[in-house]
Amino acid sequence: MITTLIIFFILGLAIGSFLNVVVYRLKTAENIVWERSHCPHCKKIIRWYDNIPLISFILLKFRCRYCKQKISLQYPLVEFFTGAIFTFIGWRYFVAADPMTWVATLYYLGIVSFLIAIFVYDWLNMEIPGLVLWPAVGWAIVFNLIFDYSKLGNTNVFDLHIYSAVLAALVAFLFFFILSAASREKWMGMGDAFLAILVGLVTGWPQVLLALILSFFIGAVVGIILILAKKKKMKSQIPFAPFLVLGTLIAMFFYVPIVGWYLSLFRF
Ligand SMILES: [Zn+2]
Repeated sequence: MITTLIIFFILGLAIGSFLNVVVYRLKTAENIVWERSHCPHCKKIIRWYDNIPLISFILLKFRCRYCKQKISLQYPLVEFFTGAIFTFIGWRYFVAADPMTWVATLYYLGIVSFLIAIFVYDWLNMEIPGLVLWPAVGWAIVFNLIFDYSKLGNTNVFDLHIYSAVLAALVAFLFFFILSAASREKWMGMGDAFLAILVGLVTGWPQVLLALILSFFIGAVVGIILILAKKKKMKSQIPFAPFLVLGTLIAMFFYVPIVGWYLSLFRF
């Protein structure tokens, strides 16, 4: 078991490292796969031994070997959190002897990777990358259909994953679409409405409601902290996708315990 989890963590580190590259190159419009990584400051090619997730950053003391410029903390943080979430997914869903859990695990690893890339890209650029979002939407739809197919015989349409996913996507999209249209994209951008489609697809109905409530709650708390810390003013814009992604991840993995806890508050 522990070996499996270590493999998941290392896989997560590697994917996290790749996601950093994807986010960087989507902005600079470089070739994602075939180009060697280079330092954004001095453009020197980064050698493989300087490109080992986490370890290289620590050995190099977070600086480029050549120009000694600081490497953004974003790189090791994204790697670490991708590794941590991958480990969690392996622990929660993966059973080596059961092929169906392989499919579920693959689904979650993929969705989480897409969500992390969207989180980081929007954080840096205040924009949701369509080149990540739409493949993620496709991924969610295909896997929902696979999960439904695997237990055909259950003919009630309302019990299907895809029904709950599409309903949730529609509600979430309309909610953000109205916010965005009513405010002429001041409160919320159209990109957030498109991201809401993905949020609905991966959480389903009614879990999507928790994802939305959590994202507004986390957004409000972070916003207040930033204003108190004088990093932002009342009117400044903060990217919303990171909060939507956080709300989605929490609702996706912890819906049952959170709702159980909430309901227990009203039981005396
Ligand atoms: Zn450099």
